[in-house]
Amino acid sequence: MDLYEFQGKELFRRYGIPVSDGRLATSPAAARAAAEEMGGPVVVKAQVLTGGRGKAGGIKLAETPADAEARAQEILGLDIRGHTVDKVWIERASEIEREYYLSITFDRSAKRPLFMFTTQGGVDIEEVAETSPDALVRLHVDPLEGYQPWHGRRLVFEGGVADPGEQKQIAAIVGKLYEAFVECEAILCEINPLIVTPEGEVRALDSKFTVDDNALFRHPDIAEMRDVGAADPLEALAREKGVTYVKLDGEVGVLGNGAGLTMSTVDVVTFVGGSPANFCDLGGGGDAQGVVDALEVITRDPQVRAIFFNIFGGITRCDEVARGILQAVEQLGIEHPIVVRLDGTNADEGRRILQEAAASNLHTEATMLDGARRAVELA
Ligand code: GDP
Ligand code: MN
Repeated sequence: MDLYEFQGKELFRRYGIPVSDGRLATSPAAARAAAEEMGGPVVVKAQVLTGGRGKAGGIKLAETPADAEARAQEILGLDIRGHTVDKVWIERASEIEREYYLSITFDRSAKRPLFMFTTQGGVDIEEVAETSPDALVRLHVDPLEGYQPWHGRRLVFEGGVADPGEQKQIAAIVGKLYEAFVECEAILCEINPLIVTPEGEVRALDSKFTVDDNALFRHPDIAEMRDVGAADPLEALAREKGVTYVKLDGEVGVLGNGAGLTMSTVDVVTFVGGSPANFCDLGGGGDAQGVVDALEVITRDPQVRAIFFNIFGGITRCDEVARGILQAVEQLGIEHPIVVRLDGTNADEGRRILQEAAASNLHTEATMLDGARRAVELA
């Protein structure tokens, strides 16, 4: 789950990472009131779950409250790479001397949290990694040992921070960021830029904070931050129905049981020249209602032109899945061609059920490859 900048900063604040004072506003008038309340120049920042807002015109300085109102008017309603801005964060403007970068992510291949730090902040970190890889310091933390003060010192020294005051503040922020990362069960905490003011004060000017969805049940306060409206509407519907669904860009709806099989199905559809519209995993049970729910989500996507059902029955019984398909087709009035490949437990019975139904849009295939080919042809 991705958090908005203002939510990430709220968590930063809880862990003692310095951030600027700010207020949330959903209208130009509220932006003006917020600026009046804070006094002095402010920055009006679009709150959307995507980066690069500055370049897209989503971040603007405002000298006066009237200015803040005008800037909010411009930014609210703006479309930033498919995300419509419906709220802005009004923050006390900072003077910037230098912009650094600090992040911690989970490095799956090393099975350890990974810190990255560079004094070349403010720009895309991918750009720094490409153009001046030596300027990017990487440091893993042994999760059993946990954070040790030398981690912070090492990042700061290897990054080439010369000023002792900055060194001390940044090293402290590194420790607090680790604490926030571990306690919130995050998979990414990024501060870009981490600024130094002309007075030598270090502060987080931006926040990218992603929490592990599977750990959210342990963090009701963070789970509450979820904004259903902002997510992809299909993914929101899927979550509501308990369907594991990821929207992709193509025309062939993909449904499998088990993440591995579904992933392979997505690959095979691509391999035979098609383009998958989604990833949808029925999971282990695959009861009829689950199939109905999954098909409802998949067919809500107007890009879908054919659906490929790839089921390997283990715990999942193919006859149950077949009944679910028929129920869904009838209930939802699905007219898309549906290609079904059933294998494993009760596969014969499942195929028989489908054949007896004699629905003209249902096609059965014996193998995954043939099924994918057929679905791509029909799409
Ligand atoms: P992003 O573009 O989505 O990464 O948004 P950021 O919050 O990182 O802001 C982008 C850039 O706007 C920063 O790198 C700064 O250069 C600038 N910016 C943001 N806030 C302030 C501020 O308070 N004062 C000044 N002078 N610049 C700011
Ligand atoms: Mn940023």
